[in-house]
Amino acid sequence: YLIALRTGKMSAFWSFFIRTVYLKCTNSENELPKSAYMKKPIVIVGAGPAGSTAAYYLANRDVLIVDKKSFPRHKPCGGGLLNSRDWGLYFGNFSAIQPNLHTHPVFGMTMYWDTKPVFAREGHLFDHVRRVEFDDLLLQAALKKSNVSFRQFSVSSVTLRGNEVIVSNGKDEIAASCVIGCDGWNSQVARCLGNPSLKKNQFGSCMEHDIACDPTSRAHVFFCFRQELGYAWVFPASTGCYVGLGFVGNYVKPLRTYLDDFLDYCIGQGIVPKSASIRNTFGAPDPIFIPQTYSHDNALLAGDAMGLVKQISGEGIFFAMLSGKIAGETLSAKVDIATEYRRRINASVKEVTLLRNIPPKPIALSLLRGLFFLMRKGPFRVSVQNAFMNSFCRRRHLPVGSKYQPF
Ligand SMILES: Cc1cc2nc3c(=O)[nH]c(=O)nc-3n(C[C@H](O)[C@H](O)[C@H](O)COP(=O)(O)OP(=O)(O)OC[C@H]3O[C@@H](n4cnc5c(N)ncnc54)[C@H](O)[C@@H]3O)c2cc1C
Repeated sequence: YLIALRTGKMSAFWSFFIRTVYLKCTNSENELPKSAYMKKPIVIVGAGPAGSTAAYYLANRDVLIVDKKSFPRHKPCGGGLLNSRDWGLYFGNFSAIQPNLHTHPVFGMTMYWDTKPVFAREGHLFDHVRRVEFDDLLLQAALKKSNVSFRQFSVSSVTLRGNEVIVSNGKDEIAASCVIGCDGWNSQVARCLGNPSLKKNQFGSCMEHDIACDPTSRAHVFFCFRQELGYAWVFPASTGCYVGLGFVGNYVKPLRTYLDDFLDYCIGQGIVPKSASIRNTFGAPDPIFIPQTYSHDNALLAGDAMGLVKQISGEGIFFAMLSGKIAGETLSAKVDIATEYRRRINASVKEVTLLRNIPPKPIALSLLRGLFFLMRKGPFRVSVQNAFMNSFCRRRHLPVGSKYQPF
C-alpha cells in the first residue's frame, strides 16, 4: 500500500487487492465440488444486446437469462449501428435476425461545433434500428437454442459464495455456477465484484426525443452544443427521427431544457421538419469508463455493465455484442476464465478508451475547440476531418471481407 501510495500507482494497487485478497476471502467458505457447480446454470443478468449475444455463444451449458423487464421492451438509444454492413462478419446472431430486422439507412452526416457547421461527409454511414425490435429479435435468436431459457427477475443482489454465485431479487434466490453481468450502467454484478458506483464524470447523461415526422436520411452531430461537454444528435429513423444529447460531468441547466432548446434550434434551421411531434422522451446514462474489476473466476461483465462504450462517439451496441460474444465463448471453453476474458477483451478496452480521466471542463472544451479549429481552417483540414471521421466510425481491426471504406 505504501509503495503504491508513494509511486502514485493506487489504481493498480486496488485492482490487485480486490482480485487477490477481497474476492479470495469472500469466496473461501462453502466451496462446492467442481462437478456439483458445473450442473448449475450460467446466469446472464440482462437481456440487452450483450446478454443475448453471450447466451447465443454459450454452448454445452445450461443458460438462464434474467431481466427485470418483460420483452419486447424499449431501451433509450439513438439506435445507430455503425458499419452495420460488417456486423454479419462478427456476429452469427446478427446474421440470423437480419431477414426480420427493419433498418433505416443513413446517408451523409454533417458535423458541427456548437451550432456552426464544420464539415460534411456523404455516402452510407450507418443503419438505424428500433431497439424495441432489435433487442427482442436478438433475445429470440438466443432462446432458439435448446440450452437457453429466460425468466423475468429483477436482481437486487449478487453474492459470490465459494464456487457458486447467488443471484437474488430479495425474495427468491437462483444458484448459478457462473454469472455474466450484462445489466447495463447500474450493474448489480459490477457491484458484487467490488466496483464502486459510477461518479458524475464517468458517464454521459443522455436524453432523447422520439420524433414523428416524414422520414429523413441525413445525420447531424453537434459537438459541444451550448458549450457543454458531449454532443447532440439528429439521427434519421424510418418512423421520423431521434433528437437527443448526452453530456458528461457538470452541465449548467436541466438536461430537458437543453434538449427542448436543441429541438427548437433544429426545427428553426429546417434540420427537423416543422410538422414534427414528440412521440416519446427517454433519458438514460451512458457509461464511458471501464471498472477496476470486470473478470473473475465465476463472474464476468460485458457491455454497459463493463463501461464498454466508445468515448468519442458513445457507440455501445457493437461493443456490447462483442464483449457478450467473447464472454460466451470464454465460458464455453475449458480455460482460466478470468485471464482469458481479460486477454481477449483487451483490444476492445483500448479501442473504446480515448482518455483514462476526463480533464476539467474548461481544459476539455479548449482541446476540442482546437481540434475543430483544425478541421475548419488550415492546409490539413481535410486530413484532420478524415482522421476524425475514421476514429468516430471505424473499427480498429477490420474483419476479412469488410465493406468499410476509409475516409
Ligand atoms: C440516449 C442514448 C443513446 C445511445 N445511442 C447509441 C447509438 O446510437 N448507437 C450505439 O451503438 N449505442 C448507443 N448508445 C449506447 C447503447 O445503448 C448501449 O451501449 C447498449 O444498449 C449496451 O447494451 P447492454 O446489453 O450492455 O445493456 P442494455 O441494453 O442497457 O441492457 C441491459 C439490460 O439489463 C436489464 N437490467 C438492468 N438492471 C437489471 C437488474 N437489476 N435485474 C435484471 N435485469 C436488469 C435491463 O432491463 C436491460 O434489459 C446510446 C445510449 C444512450 C443512453
